[in-house]
Amino acid sequence: MAAALPIDLADLELSAVEQALADAGLPRFRARQVFHWIYRKGVTDFASMTNLPRDLRVRLAERFRISTPLLVHEARSVDGTRKFLFQLDDGKRIESVYIPDTPKQTFCISSQVGCAMDCDFCLTGKMGFARNLTPAEITGQVRVLAKETGLLDKPFNIVLMGMGEPLHNYDAVMASMRTLAEEQGLAVSPRRVTLSTVGVLPAMEKLASEPLMPNLAVSLHATTNATRDKIAPINRKYPLEALLEACRRFPLKRRNRITFEYVLLDGVNDTPDDAHRLVRLLGDIKAKVNLLPLNAAPGIPYQRPSDDRVNTFAQILADHHITVSVRKSRGRDIRAACGQLIVEGQKKSTGRRLAEAIEAV
Ligand code: SAH
Repeated sequence: MAAALPIDLADLELSAVEQALADAGLPRFRARQVFHWIYRKGVTDFASMTNLPRDLRVRLAERFRISTPLLVHEARSVDGTRKFLFQLDDGKRIESVYIPDTPKQTFCISSQVGCAMDCDFCLTGKMGFARNLTPAEITGQVRVLAKETGLLDKPFNIVLMGMGEPLHNYDAVMASMRTLAEEQGLAVSPRRVTLSTVGVLPAMEKLASEPLMPNLAVSLHATTNATRDKIAPINRKYPLEALLEACRRFPLKRRNRITFEYVLLDGVNDTPDDAHRLVRLLGDIKAKVNLLPLNAAPGIPYQRPSDDRVNTFAQILADHHITVSVRKSRGRDIRAACGQLIVEGQKKSTGRRLAEAIEAV
């Protein structure tokens, strides 16, 4: 019989690491120390966990492993943004982005390889969906970014705005958030985490009852079902009214608000009428709006509106007392900006063709 693969501790929450140690006849309380090494110190080699007894280190190494996504490439933008390309155990690739000084330090991480949501303006969507990431692969991105940027012991924010739809990989994403929040680990409070969703309603409703809840961002992108059906096809299943009703019901702590992301596509959803409709739709929701002028790319059938059109749209919201910001695109020179994360060499050929087209520009 083939030997079973050693258990990957990076895939387990703290309580499960404790249980795994106990099951192996090892002292449970050591799990916290192991956790501290992995997450706070960025050490994954048992032999280097110097505050553990030597024989325990040997026994841990016999029974367990700690996997880390392999960092294969890093690109640095002139604006300080850094994009990290990771290779996973099965050869699939994902990207994460470090966005410094906004004024906070932010890690934008992926939740899936590709994405099944198929939004018409998003390059990741054009790749198609390959698979969900495991908790080890989600938290692993944060571990590597924290180490590479020297932030293991410093505060940073996390946005689940990389590749994938986090609510389409609910269990792994929530397990990762709990692991990242552990005090003996990176201690990332959920207040520092923003989960962005295009509106997978059943999962959003489940999220509403989580004890540990991140900030919520909703990718709205349109003010009529006709337009949203076209640019964000999930709308055909969960239309605008239902999405906004779920937002209304979403429990918010005092002073907290839902961020509505709104990608501006020239002539499609960026008219003054759209802006006024948006004001009405958000009327009774504690909301702020983040406008994302399209990051255009070959293969994306839309254009970025002029700055004038963007400003007119933003002004209408501001005139109606809606807090609005226009997202400055960081890292566009290294294709690290919103909706530009796409990895070559994956299954779907459209993705590869697009990536090649972009490399060529
Ligand atoms: N699936 C989640 C997480 C992706 S977050 C979601 O949809 O919210 C990435 C954000 O960038 C989303 O709001 C997405 O709609 C937006 N985006 C995608 N492609 C874009 C592009 N080409 N230009 C600007 N924003 C884009």
